[in-house]
Amino acid sequence: MRKPVVAIVGRPNVGKSTIFNRLVGERISIVEDIPGVTRDRIYAQAEWLAHQFDLIDTGGIEIGDEPLLNQMRQQAEVAIDEADVIIFMINGREGVTAADEEVAKMLFKSSKPIVLAVNKMDNPEMRNEVYEYYSLGFGEPFPISGSHGLGLGDMLDEVVGHFPVFETRDDDEETIYFSLIGRPNVGKSSLVNALLNEERVIVSDIEGTTRDAIDTRLIRDGQEYVITDTAGMRKRGKVYETTEKYSVMRALKAIDRSDVVLVLLDAETGIREQDKKIAGYAHEAGRAVIIVVNKWDAVERDEKTMKEFEEKVRAHFQYLDYAPIVFLSAKTKKRLHTLLPAIRTASENHAKRIQTSVLNDVIMDALAVNPTPTVKGKRLKVFYAAQVAIKPPSFAVFVNDPELMHFSYQRFLENRIREAFSFTGTPIKIFARKRQ
Ligand code: GDP
Ligand code: GDP
Repeated sequence: MRKPVVAIVGRPNVGKSTIFNRLVGERISIVEDIPGVTRDRIYAQAEWLAHQFDLIDTGGIEIGDEPLLNQMRQQAEVAIDEADVIIFMINGREGVTAADEEVAKMLFKSSKPIVLAVNKMDNPEMRNEVYEYYSLGFGEPFPISGSHGLGLGDMLDEVVGHFPVFETRDDDEETIYFSLIGRPNVGKSSLVNALLNEERVIVSDIEGTTRDAIDTRLIRDGQEYVITDTAGMRKRGKVYETTEKYSVMRALKAIDRSDVVLVLLDAETGIREQDKKIAGYAHEAGRAVIIVVNKWDAVERDEKTMKEFEEKVRAHFQYLDYAPIVFLSAKTKKRLHTLLPAIRTASENHAKRIQTSVLNDVIMDALAVNPTPTVKGKRLKVFYAAQVAIKPPSFAVFVNDPELMHFSYQRFLENRIREAFSFTGTPIKIFARKRQ
């Protein structure tokens, strides 16, 4: 489940984002069109040979108006904290500058494996020039050219060679992996601590996870859960932790590793733009989602308050209409006990399989209630449907012509499926396919 993380560190203009984009390829542009969600291009999934990993361009984390050297120090810190392997990139045409040396010193002190990439070596003759960089002390320098795509294979071979071995998820079917996301101060760490201290919960750290990527295992009512990426919630008090891009990156990383994502909101401060952005990522990734309204103790309430807040949440997060809303307080622990059961239900629904015959009974009923539309004189014909995937449940509807399946009819079918089966907490996907 946990994928290795690779971070690229280096001065501005050495070519970090060029390499990042190359390694990430088209994957990054596969983004659903949700208003308010723009992909911050500093964190993405990448692949080399059979290895999948997460890639961070630390250059994208801008920390206020700090001077260049401080920015670079903090970016190197992010890399040291977050990555399993660090690509230290320099510009081979400019040689080693004072800023490079400064970063090199920091990286050298960390225990993380470092791969030295010498960029802008666009011609083969330049390759010999890289030997002088042995003196930096990071072993073999790899000459690369981001703009020409040269040398990347050798460099990546070296990178994946340093990947740690993670415990595999052999207990896939039984264990529920979940994470908490939300902007700083909504109460993520408080809620994790509250959960771990719950009376009926048994906790153990997972062996083999490293200092900076802690997953925590807990058992309640015989069900095993793993909270992923709890390290992201530990208070370390670093400057960069309050920057928006960093918290988005953290959220993406956590989402990557879980089946169920808790989107935390702060009842005291209300809903902010950043909440919507973060929630959008969970939805896009096709994970089960629970909206948790924390700090409910801090709100002055009467009998209407919860209903009003719920309406606000629904209005702001329309695409998450399937997500249940849990109101609780990490501080007083009020209603805390409802959270794990909600996670369990969402997880079961996320992995649910519907029998084809039962599914088709529902589809045929739906067709009877609301006949298929006619577009330009041509009527949509639905032959049958089948579930083709879980996590999230995905359904193929076989039709005469997929072009005739309009969004509204698709939405109608989705609603019928949701009414017939319990899919609370999970998105479901429906797509039209031409019957061969
Ligand atoms: P970053 O600030 O480190 O992310 O650097 P960028 O990726 O934005 O690149 C800075 C500049 O260097 C851009 O103008 C790139 O086109 C250029 N560049 C990147 N890689 C190469 C390369 O391999 N060769 C040459 N000649 N230019 C490159
Ligand atoms: P994180 O940055 O999302 O991990 O947030 P923290 O868990 O550090 O909490 C931020 C602040 O909110 C701290 O001062 C907490 O004591 C406070 N807090 C967290 N949960 C609650 C809650 O349920 N009620 C109240 N009143 N305060 C809370």
